[in-house]
Amino acid sequence: MTDYGVIVAGAGPAGLAAAALLAKEGIATALIAPASAEDPRTVALMQPSIQLLRYLDIWPGSLETQTAALRKLRIIDDTGSLVAAPNLEFESQELNLEAFGWNIPLGLLLPALRECAEVLGVTIIKATAIGARSSGDAIHITLSNAAEFSASFCLAADGANSAMRKAAGIATDNWSYDQTAIATSFAHSKGHDNVSTEYHKSAGPFTTVPLPENRSSLVWMEHPGRAEALMTMNDGELAAEIQIETHGELGLISNLGPRKSFPMKGLTARQFAKDRVMLIGEAAHVVPPIGAQGLNMSLRDAALAADLILANKDAGGDHLMAEYNAMRRAEVLPRQQFIDLMNKSLLLGFLPLEAARAVGLSALYYLGPLKRFVMERGLQPKDNLPFTMRAS
Ligand SMILES: Cc1cc2nc3c(=O)[nH]c(=O)nc-3n(C[C@H](O)[C@H](O)[C@H](O)COP(=O)(O)OP(=O)(O)OC[C@H]3O[C@@H](n4cnc5c(N)ncnc54)[C@H](O)[C@@H]3O)c2cc1C
Repeated sequence: MTDYGVIVAGAGPAGLAAAALLAKEGIATALIAPASAEDPRTVALMQPSIQLLRYLDIWPGSLETQTAALRKLRIIDDTGSLVAAPNLEFESQELNLEAFGWNIPLGLLLPALRECAEVLGVTIIKATAIGARSSGDAIHITLSNAAEFSASFCLAADGANSAMRKAAGIATDNWSYDQTAIATSFAHSKGHDNVSTEYHKSAGPFTTVPLPENRSSLVWMEHPGRAEALMTMNDGELAAEIQIETHGELGLISNLGPRKSFPMKGLTARQFAKDRVMLIGEAAHVVPPIGAQGLNMSLRDAALAADLILANKDAGGDHLMAEYNAMRRAEVLPRQQFIDLMNKSLLLGFLPLEAARAVGLSALYYLGPLKRFVMERGLQPKDNLPFTMRAS
């Protein structure tokens, strides 16, 4: 007999969503939740992720009124390369969708998920998970306060430096980019018309994403030296830089929000599950913020892990580990490779790679069915979409 059905380590968006999903299905769930700092980021969540929030009864509600719909996505070649790619526009109407998704501040999403988990009966333990060992049909988790709890499974949602992943003996492949991402938000005098624009620049993408009224969030990927200089500027100076980079398309820039910088790294766990520990979110995979893939993939991890645990008929857990590992790697690895290639084609300044990007984007521009295929796959995988993410 274990203390819990599942222990989730980490109360970021992936861990909170997983804990709430499991508790909603009646699984005794504990969430290990150390205190965490405020995060000024917003996350563009696509339709399947929104469907998950709907399933948890936190969408639409008050969350929707404080977010903005993404109805059009633009990719602008702003590299100045000799082989410029055509500018691309994707409209949600082309897929008969009201919107591709919504842009949600983490400062709103995290409390909404946490309240949902609490209402559904998740036991929140304010501690850090420091150790894990499996024995027979249980996993035992040791906490920073010296307590130990057992469960049938542990979902490791404790981020890129996951202690649970290390405790399970899962190795990772790690790499870094000569880039830092700055996340902030700003007001602008012209309307955004619910359009998100990814300006492809030689230091990486500079992406504006709509927020309510005349505000947008920004993820600006830059060479580390320039990013450091931008981070030390006062708001007026940074607003002027944003004005230049957006070519005035959003009018006058003002009223900047808090900013935070993130060194750009990549990580892939060599196994996504082992010995009753299943990795979800950045414990399993880290990608640069291009095409809004990171948290959307993480929420699919959470929902699939919940699906498989609920359907589990295998007391030993080995089959479940193998199935989760195979299903998630099949989706995550190709997406990571695509994002990596897209990022490097901007960063390296290597003409053949720039040409390949231009050819690829031109194909999307001229070939309607290919464009539709990319839009559909960008939103969700073709197979194995967890049941909580399927439109009813
Ligand atoms: C600038 C930027 C913009 C982004 N924009 C988007 C976007 O628009 N759309 C999108 O889909 N994705 C986006 N992403 C990616 C997205 O933010 C991440 O995928 C997501 O935050 C990962 O969530 P997580 O819960 O896995 O990890 P985290 O958010 O890192 O959460 C991990 C949690 O675990 C806790 N923890 C750490 N160690 C322990 C421990 N030992 N025990 C217990 N708990 C522990 C931490 O305190 C934290 O709360 C962006 C990323 C960046 C950098």
